[in-house]
Amino acid sequence: MLRKVAAALLLATAIPATAQTTPPKLIVAISVDQFSADLFSEYRQYYSGGLKRLTQGVVFPKGYQSHAATETCPGHSTILTGSRPSRTGIIANTWFDLSIAREDKAIYCAEDESVSGSNSGDYVASPIHLKVPTLGGRMKIANPATRVVSVAGKDRAAIMMGGPTADQTWWIGGAQGFVSYKGVATPPLVAKINEAFAQRLTQPNAGFDLPQQCVAKDFPVAIGAGKSVGTGRFARAAGDFKAFRASPEQDAMTLVLAAGAIESMGLGKQAQTDIISIGLSATDYVGHTYGTEGTESCIQIDRLDRELGAFFDRLDKDGIDYAVVLTADHGGHDLPERHRENAMPMESRADEALTPKALTATIGAKTGLTGKKLIWGDGPAGDLYFDKGLTAAQRAKVEAETLTLLRAHPQVEAAYTKPQIAAVPSPSGPPESWTLLQEARASFDAQRSGDILLLLKPRITPIVDPTKGYVATHGSPWDYDRRVPILFWRKGLTHFEQPLGVETVDIMPTLAALIALPVAKSEIDGRCLDLVAGEGTSCPAQ
Ligand SMILES: [Zn+2]
Repeated sequence: MLRKVAAALLLATAIPATAQTTPPKLIVAISVDQFSADLFSEYRQYYSGGLKRLTQGVVFPKGYQSHAATETCPGHSTILTGSRPSRTGIIANTWFDLSIAREDKAIYCAEDESVSGSNSGDYVASPIHLKVPTLGGRMKIANPATRVVSVAGKDRAAIMMGGPTADQTWWIGGAQGFVSYKGVATPPLVAKINEAFAQRLTQPNAGFDLPQQCVAKDFPVAIGAGKSVGTGRFARAAGDFKAFRASPEQDAMTLVLAAGAIESMGLGKQAQTDIISIGLSATDYVGHTYGTEGTESCIQIDRLDRELGAFFDRLDKDGIDYAVVLTADHGGHDLPERHRENAMPMESRADEALTPKALTATIGAKTGLTGKKLIWGDGPAGDLYFDKGLTAAQRAKVEAETLTLLRAHPQVEAAYTKPQIAAVPSPSGPPESWTLLQEARASFDAQRSGDILLLLKPRITPIVDPTKGYVATHGSPWDYDRRVPILFWRKGLTHFEQPLGVETVDIMPTLAALIALPVAKSEIDGRCLDLVAGEGTSCPAQ
């Protein structure tokens, strides 16, 4: 009996020591698209699966995607590069290059626009725009035997986390299931999973039961044109891919592929450490389609928790020594119509007058420069670009009129010019206390950024009409879109929680330290987070 107690004590002290000193065999980096710090904390008391496990590790409940352009592509580019969008070059999902020959001047962040006949909506997927290496890329340089796998619901998530040298990069390309770069042969595993995908899609879904914590959320919110959101349970007809994509079913399929890849490629069973990045995109589709506070998001988080639990259980069963990080590419903001029901009467939608089309008409009339597309942009917020064909005098006039109009508009918080942002040093210090200009600087690229950056006031949703597509979104410089959880877990890691702000760019150097991979500080924006509670450190000596 005594011996048994002594052995148990020995084990209790031995496990944390192992977690601190030996590299894990597999790094599992998970991004839950649009999993805001607010969603994380709202449902935290109900977690019972994978999310519960992660809250028992090292918890940073207020991580920051610290930059202003809180979109999917920039956000994913920060997670495994240690670099802000100003360094990764991924400043938006879509930016504009008015000098390219093709008619469509928009550049999708994960396309190769040099492919003839392509455009930003019908493109050839490519990692060429990512300017810095990912953790997997660095691991492969240090040891070419390293296996690097990236799977996601969205191409930009898989590509920005895996990087150009990943062994396998797969994302959901449509009803056909998982696809990869052009010309990549489909391995038997992916073919098998795509069969299961097709089978699942051809079956209707009767919808999910409403968990107890979702009951109070079950009321309809009218959005106009006789439409409402807030009471859905993901019932869908057979073959309805769009409904499948905006439901927990999507993440379940992505995790099936992730688990299958780990097993079939023997990840975590080799001499070296391998890495898999997993982009779970459904929470974002659900948030955009139904908002973040209805039964839909509530069910989605509940299912996500369970699916992650089953995924981790499978890795445990296979005896893999893995370290997990889970975070998000950006936060989120519920639709104004429900916010107004929930004590936020000031919530509104952006004025149509702020769209690039309306600005072009107004400024054209003011300057007499009509018949030209004067101002280019991706909606009523973000980067705006002036037509390249203007003379210096015309351009100065257009810029002056645009700035006057924007700065006088009641919904506009700031309209910064390119030189104004470029003049700001790369920010440092707590991300929770940066100025808007500092946030703008963190997602600024001299070649790709617009001539003007338009930032709306808080609590204004940059979707003018919710009846024509998405009802809610993110993308603002406000903390509801910047704050994301950052959770680290490994067997034996002692729990602690740090409520102060850290950045998603801190994730890469933190993971690199776990596997003793040196990363030059001058190459990144992040810092190593010490995952050891109390004395000792998981970071390299300073
Ligand atoms: Zn996203």
